[in-house]
Amino acid sequence: MLPTIIVDDEKCEDPLSCRRCLIICPTHVLGLGTDVGAQKFRETDTSHFIVRPVRFDKCSGCMDCVDGCPQSAIQVSFGGGDAR
Ligand code: SF4
Ligand code: SF4
Repeated sequence: MLPTIIVDDEKCEDPLSCRRCLIICPTHVLGLGTDVGAQKFRETDTSHFIVRPVRFDKCSGCMDCVDGCPQSAIQVSFGGGDAR
């Protein structure tokens, strides 16, 4: 069963500097993206970077990302159960 993974962009203010969840996830479920998509011939401003789950099928539900996020910005749940 695939999890529901929610990252609150309001709480995760500076993912480029933090990156803790990206490093801590043992199966590299989370990745860095942007909220503006690809910008041809333009450098993306750092304020547009966001954390997004990309490999849902690899999530074991270990909750390391939830417990390790200093901003409490991540929620993971399975099967519509209570999110943590
Ligand atoms: S719950 Fe565990 S496996 Fe799933 S995204 Fe978080 S750290 Fe990765
Ligand atoms: S650990 Fe939390 S604050 Fe840090 S990059 Fe991940 S979601 Fe953002």
